[in-house]
Amino acid sequence: MYDVAKNLHEVLGTLPDGVKLVAISKFHPAEYIEAAYREGQRLFGESQEQELARKVECLPKDIEWHFIGHLQTNKVKYIAPYISMIEAVDSLKLLKEINKQAARHGRVIRVLLELHIAEEESKYGFSPAACRELLENGEWRALRNVHISGLMMMASNVEDRSQIRREMTLAADLFDELKAKYFADDPEFKERSWGMSHDYDIAVECRSTMVRVGTAIFGPRVY
Ligand SMILES: *Cc1c(COP(=O)(O)O)cnc(C)c1O
Repeated sequence: MYDVAKNLHEVLGTLPDGVKLVAISKFHPAEYIEAAYREGQRLFGESQEQELARKVECLPKDIEWHFIGHLQTNKVKYIAPYISMIEAVDSLKLLKEINKQAARHGRVIRVLLELHIAEEESKYGFSPAACRELLENGEWRALRNVHISGLMMMASNVEDRSQIRREMTLAADLFDELKAKYFADDPEFKERSWGMSHDYDIAVECRSTMVRVGTAIFGPRVY
């Protein structure tokens, strides 16, 4: 097994106060999660609902799970009872479904709006314009069982660090704009989730509050 404990402490050692680590454990076995858990890590991220359900069942109950993948509306009901945060909300339809399923369980589920800023075509998420439109439209205000807690994004998967920095800065600026316009009196709208294994150092410089790191802790994924 990869030296999860050592890697975890290395990553944690580089994060300033106020930046949380979401340990991305997708495609890694439960033993890897347990190794990180023994070192005190309690926040983990998964991207597939069935894999997550299997892990939730066999792992300690005080783990906080974030769903970080693309979520189909028909899968929301499976994770609604326990998920702590759904990071990649990319449509009003999905937001409404999360609200409905959260209400069935008497919960308020925290969510992030996923931005699409990267150049890759295939990625999900709102363009900055679509994100503004969603908030301006105002329907979200009636959804009492979801709490929009911030923004999430993935930068382009490129070597050019200045491009990554540009994209993350754009996301951080958009966060400020939306905060001022729609969430000025909501202290819970505070999360900026960007930064993965290869770019979380840049993300921290670009005001991330939440980095999502998998490979640097658990090693390469076996698909
Ligand atoms: C897999 C994944 C990560 C982690 O990527 P690493 O390169 O392994 O750190 C972060 N965010 C999202 C959305 C992911 O799907």
